[in-house]
Amino acid sequence: MTTLAPARPEADYNHLTAEDQDRFDALMEQADNAGPHDYPVYMTALTALTGVTGEVRKCACSCWCPALFDANAPGVGVIEYGEGFNLGRHQCSWCADQHPETA
Ligand SMILES: [Zn+2]
Ligand SMILES: [Zn+2]
Repeated sequence: MTTLAPARPEADYNHLTAEDQDRFDALMEQADNAGPHDYPVYMTALTALTGVTGEVRKCACSCWCPALFDANAPGVGVIEYGEGFNLGRHQCSWCADQHPETA
């Protein structure tokens, strides 16, 4: 038995195991292309994997930030909305504050 990670608004991609990083990347790719029925299923799986609730995103900042966060959290920056995809590109609140990017 593993204990469940406590719910928290942010997590760190680099704290995931290599195996979980692979799972995370695969789930994000599937979520990006998922239809409206499947999308929440992937988000639930991503929450289970990372402990991040809501719209799970990895920081898309060019500084290679490893932050995982809820896209609807306060301060989160939108670099680009996904055109024809679900996820778009977001910056974590720290990056959006320190060096905001636009597409
Ligand atoms: Zn960031
Ligand atoms: Zn950054």
